[in-house]
Order: sequence, then C-alpha cells, then structure tokens
Amino acid sequence: MERAREARASGQLGCDDVLELLTDLLEEALPAGRHQRVTAHLVGCPVCSGRLLQLRATIVVLGHLRDGAVPASALAALRDSFLTPAPTGPPDQALRPAGGTS
Ligand SMILES: [Zn+2]
Repeated sequence: MERAREARASGQLGCDDVLELLTDLLEEALPAGRHQRVTAHLVGCPVCSGRLLQLRATIVVLGHLRDGAVPASALAALRDSFLTPAPTGPPDQALRPAGGTS
C-alpha cells in the first residue's frame, strides 16, 4: 500500500483510489476531471487495467443473472481477489496506446 501513498503524494491517484472508482468509471458516474485521472492511471498501471477488465467481464456475467443469483460469498471472494495485488511482471507495453514514441 506504500505505492499508493507515493502516487497520491505526487498528485496522482493510487491503485486503492482507482479500485474504489472502477465501478463508477464503468457506470460513467465520475466527474470529467476524475474520470480523466482514473483513465490516466489505468493506461500506466497493468494491475488496475487488469482489474477493470475483470470487473467489466464480471458485470457482463452478472448482467445475465437475476438479482440474488450470485451468492454473497462469491461476490466477497471476487472483491478479495481485487484487493489482493495480482502477481505481475514488468509494465506491459501492450497496454499503452499504439504509436507512442517515448
Ligand atoms: Zn493501479
């Protein structure tokens, strides 16, 4: 969690902040400025962009289920999986927009 604090000190959102905001992002419920900062973080953070994909996939699946069809324990396990840092290698270039020259 130290990394998140560092990021915050530099004026950027930390992974924890972004995690909190992912559902709002998907629902397009974020103010424009915040939306931008979350997206900027996602571009540079394979962990959070992976979580976003996971969350999006989950929502698609849940969208095909009736309310209450997913046991609370399954949802809790899913949330835990988001909160547990995924084992990752070096930042994935593939996640960056194509055409970058930096
Ligand atoms: Zn992150």
